[in-house]
Amino acid sequence: MDAEDQRAPSAGTTSASGSGHDRRATPAVYVPERRLADRRIGRNLPASVLTPPAPPPPPHLDDYASIVGRAQIDALRFLAHELRGKSIKMVNSTALGGGVAEMLNRLVPLLSELQVPAHWDVITGGNDFFEVTKAFHNALHGSAYELTQAAKDIFLMYTEQNRQRMHFDEELVVIHDPQPVGLVLSRGKTRASWVWRCHIDLSNPDRKVWDFLRPFVEQYDAAIFSSQSFARQLSIPQYLFYPCIDPLSEKNRELSDAEIQQVCDDFAIDRSRPIVTQVSRFDRLKDPVGVVKAYKLAKKYVDCQLVLAGGGASDDPEGAAVLQEVRDEAGEDPDIIILDLPPWCALQINALQRASTIIVQKSLKEGFGLTVTEALWKGKPTIAGAVGGIPNQIIHKLTGVLVHSVEGCAFQIRYLLTHPEFARTIGANGREHVKENFLMTTNVKRWLLLFRLLEQAKARMPKAA
Ligand code: UDP
Repeated sequence: MDAEDQRAPSAGTTSASGSGHDRRATPAVYVPERRLADRRIGRNLPASVLTPPAPPPPPHLDDYASIVGRAQIDALRFLAHELRGKSIKMVNSTALGGGVAEMLNRLVPLLSELQVPAHWDVITGGNDFFEVTKAFHNALHGSAYELTQAAKDIFLMYTEQNRQRMHFDEELVVIHDPQPVGLVLSRGKTRASWVWRCHIDLSNPDRKVWDFLRPFVEQYDAAIFSSQSFARQLSIPQYLFYPCIDPLSEKNRELSDAEIQQVCDDFAIDRSRPIVTQVSRFDRLKDPVGVVKAYKLAKKYVDCQLVLAGGGASDDPEGAAVLQEVRDEAGEDPDIIILDLPPWCALQINALQRASTIIVQKSLKEGFGLTVTEALWKGKPTIAGAVGGIPNQIIHKLTGVLVHSVEGCAFQIRYLLTHPEFARTIGANGREHVKENFLMTTNVKRWLLLFRLLEQAKARMPKAA
């Protein structure tokens, strides 16, 4: 298997072709020199992490029965029955890295197992395209951006290239996020219903970028947002779909203590002392520098180590610069462990989350925040920025704690480390909240319901003469 093959989604009937624009620097574990001597650990990641593991066989629907109950699985089969033989295409901008790819990797084979064949395609583009779409992404999140004609031209040129390359033979086409939004220009030639699944917060977008993208969005049959607060006024129907995690994936399955210990040994993490962890791409909107600052404030009062684990997703050119800012802020502290992980490290992330005493997700802007879902599912007391979809997951002081500043985050780290009973309670509540609302099986149910609805609407439309 060559490197490009390894980047493509692996499961079921997926047909993603890989985004072909990986700019990752050599992954490395960063530890200050003093720490190297102390813990006999090299600058490079352990060999076990450098090569992608063979993907484990995808779970089957019945495997979820022990987690969500047999009745839930029967309900999915019932809903799928009417859709048998009809197919779905999912399109996004990256095969690996980020929450969308993570979800599609499981959703696609489960739909196919329900005999609703699902295909996954990934748009391609050069660095110039992904720089423009990254800037659009940030601008839609509210950052200042000067939209130029050159940026529009780049976006339209790659949209056209992808339209030439892709076929849309399915009954339902689902386009994820702004990068491929322009593919809807192909809808005229298809029999499909077209849905735009927006994973980002559109509540306060840069006006010019939104004015440019909106005409594309309004050509869809419907738009789906991850939180009530993300939606815009649109001329098309809108739906609320919470994202989800897969409790049986490498990222979330139960691990033995030996597996957790092995990962901690690999990264020289001391499990006898409190561990505060943030898992995130190195992206300014995830505020990893703010996490280091909060840790430093809390550390004046409580002993702990800080683990920052992440990588640059393949559609994020800013990752390397942000990683350097984090290293600069961390300075020489031997208790700050920065892990620039390759994108296939699901098991390691699972183990790091499970080894943690507290998990932080101090985002300044967020889509839904799947890392929060993952942390809650593991029963971890979680501190997170009150942005995007995070308040849907964290009910303050019940399923976790919400923060608005570096100081607030530092206070909560200190509080949770010194109030373990409260920390345990919110961790347990968080896990229940995820079980009810944010697991993969609920997501499959939402897609089946929407697909049925759109097919019924199509059937009511007068046939063209
Ligand atoms: N993730 C990962 N490797 C990393 C950083 C993050 O596998 O180096 C995973 C993380 O565990 C989660 C997803 O990527 O499953 C991130 O989703 P989220 O919604 O939190 O943020 P996004 O990156 O999509 O903005």
